[in-house]
Amino acid sequence: MSVTLDLSRMAHSPSREGADAPKPPINLSGLTRPQMVAALTESGVVEHGKAKMRATQIFRWVHHRGVTDFAQMSDVAKETRARLAERFTIARPEVVERQVSKDGTRKWLIRMAPGIEVETVYIPSVGRVGALCVSSQVGCTLNCSFCHTGTQALVRNLTAAEIVAQVQIAKDDLAEWPSDKEDRLLSNIVFMGMGEPLYNMGQVADAIEIISDNEGIAISRRRITVSTSGVVPQLEALGEKTQAMLAISLHATNDALRDVLVPLNKKYPLDQLMAGIRAYPGLSNARRVTFEYVMLKGVNDSPDEARALVKLIKGIPAKVNLIPFNPWPGTDYQCSDWTAIESFAAILNRAGYSSPIRTPRGRDILAACGQLKSESEKVRASAMRKLSMAAMAGVLDDDEDEAAA
Ligand code: SAH
Ligand code: SF4
Repeated sequence: MSVTLDLSRMAHSPSREGADAPKPPINLSGLTRPQMVAALTESGVVEHGKAKMRATQIFRWVHHRGVTDFAQMSDVAKETRARLAERFTIARPEVVERQVSKDGTRKWLIRMAPGIEVETVYIPSVGRVGALCVSSQVGCTLNCSFCHTGTQALVRNLTAAEIVAQVQIAKDDLAEWPSDKEDRLLSNIVFMGMGEPLYNMGQVADAIEIISDNEGIAISRRRITVSTSGVVPQLEALGEKTQAMLAISLHATNDALRDVLVPLNKKYPLDQLMAGIRAYPGLSNARRVTFEYVMLKGVNDSPDEARALVKLIKGIPAKVNLIPFNPWPGTDYQCSDWTAIESFAAILNRAGYSSPIRTPRGRDILAACGQLKSESEKVRASAMRKLSMAAMAGVLDDDEDEAAA
């Protein structure tokens, strides 16, 4: 079950609310520029002929300058600013906790609403400069057997505003405003935090449109990677709508094993998944798909499986990201031995695939991250964080992508 607070739709159809019901302020941070034009027009704050110009002006204040208060919009008339503040908000959600690792990794626990908390992690030296791992849902409906996030029920989808807020908060902390500042630290975004992004496509697509808009944060779509466990019917829409880079959580090369590791495979088995990937819009040697493969001792890590993997992905412009399994209390899985991982990687490399193996970064703050949340959530949060680190580091620490971008 998912409950989505879709602010963009609210902007388009205020009449759905009862005539006398007080309208909650719309967060402009979660609106694409066309949506902002519509919201400004419908609100009556901005006259129709000026809405497009005004929307770009406000969009730039919010996403280029990073302001959080209409009063800071010095080139907007005072009266208009006051009227905007009555109907809209551009405030950030609350940062409940912030941690910085010795290696520069940063982590924020963000409270989107009462009981809705997500963690966002920035890792330096990933991608061109550094990558931010964002969440798309709180919890997950899928129950991958090796993933601790999967043991937590879906609480709800995040809105575009809440996804964008994760980026804004990272930029606040990294002093990345204005967005065209030289020597930017945040160059890449990966949707590898909590949740299955393709089960929240509308909000994820809007968030990507906002983050990549050249009038604002301007992170190129080629530097935005969406990781999915394989929601095949949504792959084409992801490519068409977002032009984002694709990462697939593969983890097994045959249906019998993948059914166990990634139960969604029963719905969309490997032949369908591989066909969907081959048809992903824009795939080329310059825009390769990343296959994520978690290394599970004695489960999926034999040389035979490495050879089966090479065969399975033959002809697809791809790289493989081998993720050392991060164990969590209660799991029966163990991480593969280092020698097994190296042998596996060697087979992939010989077949011409780049297959980085990365160890998690920011261990010192990860160890403490459970303290940020309630006792029951502690272990899950910690496990989730570690996996994101390993996964995203492997996906992006590859200069070839940068040359292509
Ligand atoms: N739901 C999406 C994105 C979030 S998970 C997906 O499944 O792709 C990000 C990556 O971490 C996925 O490849 C996931 O399979 C992997 N992962 C999950 N649990 C892990 C663990 N305990 N150790 C290592 N990687 C894990
Ligand atoms: Fe959900 Fe991804 Fe974890 Fe599977 S691996 S349970 S899809 S977050």
